[in-house]
Amino acid sequence: MLIAIILFAQVNANKDGSATNASLIKVTLLGTGTPQPLMERFGPSILVQAGSETLLFDAGRGCLQRLRQLDVAYDKLTAFFLTHLHSDHTVGLPDLWLTGWLITRRATPLRVFGPVGTSDMITYLRKAYAYDIKIRIEDDKCPEEGSKLLVAENKEGTVYENNGVKVIAFLVDHYPVVPAYGYRIEYKGHAVVLSGDTRYSENLIKFARGTDLLIHEVAIAPDTLSKSDPRYDILAHHTTPEQAAKVFNEVKPKLAAYSHIVKLYGHNEQEIMQRTKANYAGPVIMGQDLMRFSISDTVSVNTWKNK
Ligand SMILES: [Zn+2]
Ligand SMILES: [Zn+2]
Repeated sequence: MLIAIILFAQVNANKDGSATNASLIKVTLLGTGTPQPLMERFGPSILVQAGSETLLFDAGRGCLQRLRQLDVAYDKLTAFFLTHLHSDHTVGLPDLWLTGWLITRRATPLRVFGPVGTSDMITYLRKAYAYDIKIRIEDDKCPEEGSKLLVAENKEGTVYENNGVKVIAFLVDHYPVVPAYGYRIEYKGHAVVLSGDTRYSENLIKFARGTDLLIHEVAIAPDTLSKSDPRYDILAHHTTPEQAAKVFNEVKPKLAAYSHIVKLYGHNEQEIMQRTKANYAGPVIMGQDLMRFSISDTVSVNTWKNK
């Protein structure tokens, strides 16, 4: 399959990311990083646009800035989904929510989906920011309804269905973080699957079959990493390039892409790709922040290029 890689300049970008006739689903990696505070890889967050739905998955560090770069305003989000409650996936949420509300004057609540514990987290966040919320309503005249987050905690299966877009949550294996979810988003016979954080997961393979695009996490470390190493547990919670290759061989997506890139002890992206391609012959690409995938009968890739 041909993968069109087109560099698009900021000035030429379809900045609101609205779906064109050519693409049914657009997927933009807002942040491809991990807890590491890197400038080149913001915290994990992925935007999925399909029809009239604008869906955000995870709110890693900097997701609001990334949305601004794409000219996607907070009041355009139709729903927000958390894969799990590790802080690298949630620390951007107060900024997304409160700053987003302040600057867009969003007037409707945002629907939030996530694992058990999401409801508590949102309740406590609201308490933590109670002073700000009160003052923004009284002083800045922000619409009170827009400050609300309507939480539903996931069970495996369809969690959201609106305007022809279906979001299916499925369990992945990020033990001891239980439950942790991946998501499958379907629209007009096409699909994208987001792995969330997971080690090798048979359940992910089951739910990902037939997808056009599979965005999968990856972690690289020395082969010699022993159980006594303090970073062994990090590797044990994630998926090695060889394991990811096994997943891709089973799922056979039109395109696989890495996001949430965990690199230990100086290993790098080139090695991730070498070790993947040694075990998988299909199309696979290393994700980067603001990389965009357009799904129709083919999957094309645009990378972001600043002026
Ligand atoms: Zn993570
Ligand atoms: Zn995690």
